[in-house]
Amino acid sequence: MKVAIFVNEHKPIGDIDKIIIGEVVSHGLIIDNVNPDIVIFVGGDGTFLRAVHHYLPIIQSVKFVGVGAGNLGFFYDFHPDDVHQLFTLLEAHELKESSHHLLEGQVFTESGVETIHAVNEIRLENPFHTLICDVEINHETLETYRGNGLVVSSSLGSSAYNKSLGGSLIDHSLDLLELTEIATIQNNINRSLGAPLVVAGDSKITFNGNFKEALIGYDNVVIDQRNVLRLEVYRSNKVVRLLHSPDYQYIKSLRRSFIK
Ligand code: NAP
Ligand code: MN
Repeated sequence: MKVAIFVNEHKPIGDIDKIIIGEVVSHGLIIDNVNPDIVIFVGGDGTFLRAVHHYLPIIQSVKFVGVGAGNLGFFYDFHPDDVHQLFTLLEAHELKESSHHLLEGQVFTESGVETIHAVNEIRLENPFHTLICDVEINHETLETYRGNGLVVSSSLGSSAYNKSLGGSLIDHSLDLLELTEIATIQNNINRSLGAPLVVAGDSKITFNGNFKEALIGYDNVVIDQRNVLRLEVYRSNKVVRLLHSPDYQYIKSLRRSFIK
């Protein structure tokens, strides 16, 4: 088994990489940061996002497991002191595995199409001028939206930006998309749903308009693409596979992230 170590340089944890390398060697495994079977990410939930983007080209054949300090989060449940236990569980195939579809976006401009992938969400935002956007779901018109922007979140991303926008938290085992609004204009001329909308995972959400000044972002990335005319967001065929502690439950990650 080949193991990669993906460390968040902004959140260094002592000699954690040396400790992990020691475990890899003592368990007869191999370090391979290019073509790994397992990626051990060290940091937080944001580090998981970066690790997924880094390994996107081989996402179908890799599994992620996280080590972090502090309260633990949604995507990692091993402390630095638990690294030996992590390897024992890994070797015994006792880690809990789950797989989750990524989001996929098609960004249409006059000159072509760009495809993007996201773990948490894909965002269309204009903080400077009113964003005007025709919203379609499965090719059926929903509304003309006016405001600062719209966000399509996955279940995994529901506890991130989506939550700050008043969206629902969604159990990670559910395959759904959630559409939320940012600072929407609602008056007797402009009217949109004004509520978070959860749709089936196989839905396609389309934004049409002249998005000259709008920004398209996903996870920790903002794309340098202006003059967008259309953005389509839907479930990707690509999945990300996560390894958790055997006693992991979604409710546990809610408690440790948001309660105490
Ligand atoms: P970042 O520092 O990597 O992440 C921002 C915060 O969100 C960190 O505290 C991170 O936790 C946490 N986080 C990331 N994914 C999460 C998830 N699925 N559930 C719960 N918490 C999560 O910041 P970034 O690089 O700019 O962007 C990454 C994410 O930030 C985006 O995907 C977006 O969801 C979020 N964001 C939130 C807001 C907002 O809430 N107003 C605005 C913009 C972006 P760790 O500390 O454990 O890494
Ligand atoms: Mn060991």
